[in-house]
Amino acid sequence: MPDYAELLRGFQALGLQDKPVIAHASLKPFGHIEGGAETVRDAMLASFASVSMPTFTYKTEVIPEVGPPNNGIIYGSGHDTNHLAEHFRPDMRVDPMMGSLPEALRKHPSATRTAHPILSFAGVNADLMLFTQTLYEPLAPIRALAEQDGWVVLINVDHTVNTSIHYAEKLTGRKQFIRWALAGDRVVECPNYPGDSLGFLAIEPHLNSDTRRVPVGEGFIQAVPLQGLFEVVQRLIKKDPLALLCERLDCERCRAVRVTER
Ligand SMILES: [Zn+2]
Repeated sequence: MPDYAELLRGFQALGLQDKPVIAHASLKPFGHIEGGAETVRDAMLASFASVSMPTFTYKTEVIPEVGPPNNGIIYGSGHDTNHLAEHFRPDMRVDPMMGSLPEALRKHPSATRTAHPILSFAGVNADLMLFTQTLYEPLAPIRALAEQDGWVVLINVDHTVNTSIHYAEKLTGRKQFIRWALAGDRVVECPNYPGDSLGFLAIEPHLNSDTRRVPVGEGFIQAVPLQGLFEVVQRLIKKDPLALLCERLDCERCRAVRVTER
């Protein structure tokens, strides 16, 4: 079970003290941490120039009866869930599916959170990057991070949660989607919504030489530079337009990309 000092040693061993990072995490493999997710957050803030994380809120999403074709969605399938959807609020809790660390980051007294109703990001010392986000360009903060020589930090998780790969997919021209969310007193159309990420594990062997990896307790931390990551994604998709898609037969978004590329 790592404590603050061991976490700090682990993060600092990545050698990224002067870099902004975007992080994704599952803290369970660490076991009990004194002080919980806040301890991990504080060790990160002491180890990187800035820390950002996705603070997505899927419970704002609604599914309409009809919409544009080949949109990776089953229209009309929201009968049982649309009435449970909630209007986005800046203080809305991060989707529990994303783990406890982004919620702890969002609650930091110096944190900023963006206002995208589904795909918000929170960060500390990251305002200039976060403020690039618009409803039309939800992943713009990732581009801004890359321009600042930013890195992705994965804590006990693999690339299937690496949101930055989605930005690189968009750079290649891969199909993006439209989703709808409750915000204010209306339903907001959210374009450039990314595809599915379950197939992203296939990128791992291509990143080995760029990856820094540090064991921490029973878990691990790994980091890859965004610029290098973008280059690898673009190379893989250029070689095979279906690269990094998942194999699930019921995956609507990967199917929509396949249909587009056919
Ligand atoms: Zn898929």
